[in-house]
Amino acid sequence: MLEELKEELVDLLQELPENDLVCLTSGNVSIRDTRSGLILIKPSGVPYDQIDISKIVVIDIDGNIVEGTYKPSSDTASHLYIYQHYSDVNGIVHTHSRYAAVFASLGKNIPVVFTETAEEFGGEIPCSDFVLIGDSEIGKQVVKYGKGYNAVLLKKHGVFTFAASARRAVDLAILVENSAFIAWHALQMGNPEGFNPEEIQTLYYRQQNIYGQ
Ligand SMILES: [Zn+2]
Repeated sequence: MLEELKEELVDLLQELPENDLVCLTSGNVSIRDTRSGLILIKPSGVPYDQIDISKIVVIDIDGNIVEGTYKPSSDTASHLYIYQHYSDVNGIVHTHSRYAAVFASLGKNIPVVFTETAEEFGGEIPCSDFVLIGDSEIGKQVVKYGKGYNAVLLKKHGVFTFAASARRAVDLAILVENSAFIAWHALQMGNPEGFNPEEIQTLYYRQQNIYGQ
């Protein structure tokens, strides 16, 4: 079932190691099928280069396995919590990308030091409280800190991004890491000037509403 979406998920999963956003089997991506409401998610602990459509797990919004012989990602309960609370989110990505994880390790938001962060995120990328991996604890943090944003740092852990499509959520995961990389380096060289709230809003509005074809 949902073969095309499975293919899309397999392709998007490959983009995490390709963009150096994950080590070994860490990280995950899920997609919600907007028609059936079913969710496709990465199998737990399978190396990225061994994931094909036969290993993708299909679950319903309550976490029941609808199709698949593999165990779903260990973050499944948190993905479900996010889908349950954001009806317009159809794609979720989790990574331990390096520079973002540095900010997360310190419990610090990623500041807006250059235009791209303002354009893509409309403000600092917020950092949550620390929670142990468990049921939906991480998902609760993402929903708590993610209001009005599309990315959250998990304190001492990593990154969650979420969007109307899984394609966009993967792009956001790449952009979070780029913002963290630039901010970290800027902070090593001096005190970045940043932007006032009006400039940030202008940059964000322009990128979200005017930029592109
Ligand atoms: Zn993780």
